[in-house]
Amino acid sequence: MPARTERMFCGSPVSFAAENQAVRDRRIADRRPAPGLTRAEKREKDREIPVKRELELYIHIPFCVRKCAYCDFLSAPASQETMRAYVDVLCREIREFPRADQYEVSTVFLGGGTPSILPPELTGQILSTVREKFRFVQARSRTGRGAERSAGPENAEPIPDKKCGDPGFSQRLPEITIECNPGTADMEKLAAWRRMGINRLSLGLQSADDKELRCLGRIHTWKDFLATYHDARRAGFENINIDLMSALPGQTVDSWKRTLEKVLALSPEHISAYSLIIEEGTPFYDRYGEDARRRDAGEPCVELPSEEEEREMYRLTEQYLQKAGLYRYEISNYARPGYECRHNCGYWRRTEYAGFGLGAASLLALPETVSGKEKAVMGRRCAAGAADHEIRPHTFFPKNYRYKNPEDLAAYLAYDFSDRQKEELSAEDQMEEFMFLGLRMTRGVSERAFEETFGVPAGQIYGREMEKLEKQGLLCRENGRIFLSVRGTDLANYVMAEFLVER
Ligand code: SF4
Repeated sequence: MPARTERMFCGSPVSFAAENQAVRDRRIADRRPAPGLTRAEKREKDREIPVKRELELYIHIPFCVRKCAYCDFLSAPASQETMRAYVDVLCREIREFPRADQYEVSTVFLGGGTPSILPPELTGQILSTVREKFRFVQARSRTGRGAERSAGPENAEPIPDKKCGDPGFSQRLPEITIECNPGTADMEKLAAWRRMGINRLSLGLQSADDKELRCLGRIHTWKDFLATYHDARRAGFENINIDLMSALPGQTVDSWKRTLEKVLALSPEHISAYSLIIEEGTPFYDRYGEDARRRDAGEPCVELPSEEEEREMYRLTEQYLQKAGLYRYEISNYARPGYECRHNCGYWRRTEYAGFGLGAASLLALPETVSGKEKAVMGRRCAAGAADHEIRPHTFFPKNYRYKNPEDLAAYLAYDFSDRQKEELSAEDQMEEFMFLGLRMTRGVSERAFEETFGVPAGQIYGREMEKLEKQGLLCRENGRIFLSVRGTDLANYVMAEFLVER
């Protein structure tokens, strides 16, 4: 479906920091014991206090009508029986998720693969299981005065937020997305999804040129896409993303312009625009791998667009989309204000997420203090950076761990979810992720959030790197935020690599 598996984050600088602080203040206030309690009573009270954390859910549906020629995602065609068996195990995995009562779910993302090929009853089975297991965050009023409506499918409607640059997170909760390939969902299915509370549709178009679609091995045409798009609007979808892909074999700057023009005429709320990457192990690698190597070496290409053409397409994308009112909030993602993908923003912000299904990964936190070893590592880094550094208590430093499901279908179907191998992330792992995921967003990262998370200023960990990148004109530091410059966005991979912590 999409050109990448990266699911990524945003929000205005001010609202992000203020939101964090407000949550912390509330938690501290909640935990303050009533006067006159004994120590044991205070401990007991602490245990009783339900501190809910935000959780995102990713649900992987690894089935496709057929395999596209460029795709290296975990997906394959499957029979209806296999799909049913898979969904049964997937629901068991959801039901067995531990400590669900600690969380409130803010987003659900049904990705793949092609989730839209599931019969509606299977999609309904998944979402019912999610609702039985998890509590959803409560949708807030336009005034932001807290929960006025209970969460649930009937209250999953997006409330448009017009504040430019502010994704309006609190106004549009929860967000429930399904990825859909044109031609795999008719009006009946689309309407059923709406009834289930799905309120965001991500359509994998890739190109408006039928020749390019054939080359990619996609199953749909532009006409098929148009039918699905208009049906989706009729079914009540008010929040639609369209996936596009540039730098395709045989694609020209003019054909890319035509794709942009045709898509923008439909006024979608969101566009993801990636460049094709020729992945090893795909039919495209056999066909165009050599050409891609030539292009990367600055030599003339045979069938792929040249490096200059690719850059031109990239520049045109931002130009066309901005003119149409879609602003870039992440390296490859554009949205009308208020329609940024909350789920992906959570990934870039390192919100806790639980992944269910084949090969799905999860990132969860244990709210403990940082270990002595991690403090020592950070201490060494800091000592090298500044003399007056002092490590503060890590009140809000979470220990994060990650785990991943098997990638083999048979192994997944027989998997014991209670016996997972968990990988605990070190402080360095988390700092790196904080920086290179956060820097994907145009608003970048907050220096204050970094310090509050890790107990040390970003400048004392990455001072030298940031200075060098600033001098090179690739990074900016303004008003307590660190973000990529326009040139830095072009050279994002180089910039991100600078944030790997030496070990
Ligand atoms: S639709 Fe094509 S690109 Fe998307 S996951 Fe399936 S095979 Fe891969």
